[in-house]
Amino acid sequence: MMERPKVAFFDLSCCEGCQLQVANLGEELLDVLGLIDLVEFREVMSETWEGRYDVAIVEGSVVNEESEQRLREIRRRSDLLIAYGSCATIGGVNGMKNRKPLPEVQQEVYGERADWFPTDRTRPLHQLVKVDYFIHGCPIHPQEFIKVLKSALAGLPYQVPDYAVCVECKFNENVCLYDKGVTCLGPVTRAGCNAWCVNNGNVCYGCRGLVSNPNRAGAEEVLREHGLDAGLIANKMLMYNAAMEPCDE
Ligand code: SF4
Ligand code: SF4
Ligand code: SF4
Repeated sequence: MMERPKVAFFDLSCCEGCQLQVANLGEELLDVLGLIDLVEFREVMSETWEGRYDVAIVEGSVVNEESEQRLREIRRRSDLLIAYGSCATIGGVNGMKNRKPLPEVQQEVYGERADWFPTDRTRPLHQLVKVDYFIHGCPIHPQEFIKVLKSALAGLPYQVPDYAVCVECKFNENVCLYDKGVTCLGPVTRAGCNAWCVNNGNVCYGCRGLVSNPNRAGAEEVLREHGLDAGLIANKMLMYNAAMEPCDE
């Protein structure tokens, strides 16, 4: 019998919410566990593994030299690397610190002990190492996680949708929030979550990042028409995407 692929989960800077999503998968996770040899996953087991990984699944972004070295070491030991969660795929909320001078951020968070905690601007994984599969979202959408993991195990590609969340929203026959006077980032946000938030009565915050050719000017105009000023529009658009913006360095 062929050896089952060795799979490991890792976390860099993040809230661990995406790991929790995986741990909470229940029966679907048991199905997947039947196909793999899970060798490392800090949130659910204490064992670690010194050998090679067939698949490394990494959550969180790189925010300092230590996490950069750790990521490079994981990549060196892995045949396939999956970035999961918007912290890992686009920088996510961690990227907000890229909008301020780093010493200011350090001071605000750590006060007089700022020097104890060296920090760097936030980077998603692909800005440092090769990433084979992306699972966007904050947190990840569990069904997409299963789909991507199965594709990786089968050696098949997974194409992240490159159309707007609005497409999925319309398939779900939601009344558009703009018709209710509410603003929503669905028109510029990459689909793949089946419009999860809107289906459940919330707005799209843009957690999966922008589509590759977003009509930013159009989106900003619509947001302006709904009473948002330029500062608020920028904050909305950059809440998840700041680490994907060109940086001053
Ligand atoms: S993507 Fe969101 S839920 Fe996942 S680790 Fe980052 S902050 Fe947490
Ligand atoms: S509610 Fe949001 S995601 Fe749905 S159609 Fe309107 S703008 Fe698009
Ligand atoms: S609807 Fe928007 S905010 Fe919600 S999961 Fe999908 S992309 Fe993320």
